[in-house]
Amino acid sequence: MILIDALFPKSCAFCGKAAESDGICDKCRETLPWYGTRETLGGGLTVTAPLKYENTARAALLRFKFKGRTQYAKPFAVLMSACVRNYYGGEFDVIAYVPLGFFRRIKRGYNQTKLLASALSAEFGKVRVIAPLRKRSRKANSSLGKDERAANVRNAFTLKRGADVRGKRILLVDDVLTTGATLSECASVLLRNGAERVMCVTVCRA
Ligand SMILES: [Zn+2]
Repeated sequence: MILIDALFPKSCAFCGKAAESDGICDKCRETLPWYGTRETLGGGLTVTAPLKYENTARAALLRFKFKGRTQYAKPFAVLMSACVRNYYGGEFDVIAYVPLGFFRRIKRGYNQTKLLASALSAEFGKVRVIAPLRKRSRKANSSLGKDERAANVRNAFTLKRGADVRGKRILLVDDVLTTGATLSECASVLLRNGAERVMCVTVCRA
């Protein structure tokens, strides 16, 4: 199936039928579970997402994350770029993404948020993509008590050695927004290290 998609890249990411060049067919354009609003998380962090995490959108995102359908980055980025233009037009200098843990990246072979960031960059005249964040290797939560678990999640991300985000206005990309804890944690690391502003976009809102 992956091979077929590679030979015929213009099939719809959501239903597999013939699609426009951006990888979305007319029918799905009408029937997708649209979200498309901007909301504010704790600490004033803003996030927008084009789709709700349900039905065809959820299924496509899961194929993208776990079934190697890396070509979906383009249609997802097309949809995200509409939200980004609407809410953050001209307000960011660089794009960053939520990092995947080392072992998960090795196992999967790719980082889906990095692919989304690159595809989104292409939608905005090749805005620079930076990778300033690193996911700490952590103890399994199941081995920890309640307070330790909270701290374990809270300190999940750190700035990479040598990364410089001072004065930057950063568009931060993740695949799905659930509680917002991951984006908030990443944003706080960036802001603590001198980023001027962080605004977020994801493909889906759970
Ligand atoms: Zn479709």
